[in-house]
Amino acid sequence: MKKPFIVGNWKMNLTLKQGVEFAGLLKNSLYGKREIICGICPPFVFLKEICKILEDCNVCVAAQNIHSERNGAYTGEISALMVKEVGCTHVLIGHSERRHIFHETDSFINAKIKMALSVTLKPIFCIGETLEERESGRTKEVIQNQLKGGLHDIRADRLKELVIAYEPVWAIGTGKTALPGQANEVHAFIRNTVADAYGKDFATSLYIQYGGSVKPENAKELMAQPEIDGLLVGGASITFESFLKIIEAVSKD
Ligand code: PEP
Repeated sequence: MKKPFIVGNWKMNLTLKQGVEFAGLLKNSLYGKREIICGICPPFVFLKEICKILEDCNVCVAAQNIHSERNGAYTGEISALMVKEVGCTHVLIGHSERRHIFHETDSFINAKIKMALSVTLKPIFCIGETLEERESGRTKEVIQNQLKGGLHDIRADRLKELVIAYEPVWAIGTGKTALPGQANEVHAFIRNTVADAYGKDFATSLYIQYGGSVKPENAKELMAQPEIDGLLVGGASITFESFLKIIEAVSKD
């Protein structure tokens, strides 16, 4: 049995003071809790301070993005090595807001995943279909293409620490959650697709998180699905109280 892996994506929210307070509260609340793995994705400029608060505890810190290049003339960008140096263990790659607002392509996402792996940052690779793609019956095709494009030319032995987050775009920040069965079906498809490419053992041990309007009220039911190994939470991770309620909902029987 895998431990649930619950990650909160703060996006472009909170002040440094609020973030620091949140991290301290989370550390205390999770002290000694071994049945769950938890993480947060603060904005870049909070990372150093928050990583310090959370070092040597069971909460991991993920950056919300990195650039695909190691270093160089990329004004305004942040490298994988920079976030690794301040203590991040994970990084979100291919979040739907990056794909849709900032026009990130599968090949750029693929280059970022390779860069993350090259510095031993663990990618949380986000994929998901839009409403129009779902309604035109193309969910599986879109998911398959995102998997193929994002993981192109990466061998299984380099992907041991990969996490995939299935986040239907129509459910992100909209209040519309995928029905637990709907999410489970796509998770099963993702796992089978990964099994075809990398083998059954790899696919079985792969963590696949669900994200899209996860709240304290629906977290337990989503996590009860056999193919859902964790949750990527946006809006409901911004206040400590609601994030903690989600953690508590999934860590209780
Ligand atoms: C997200 O941003 O990854 C997300 C799932 O957001 P929300 O929970 O607000 O839908």
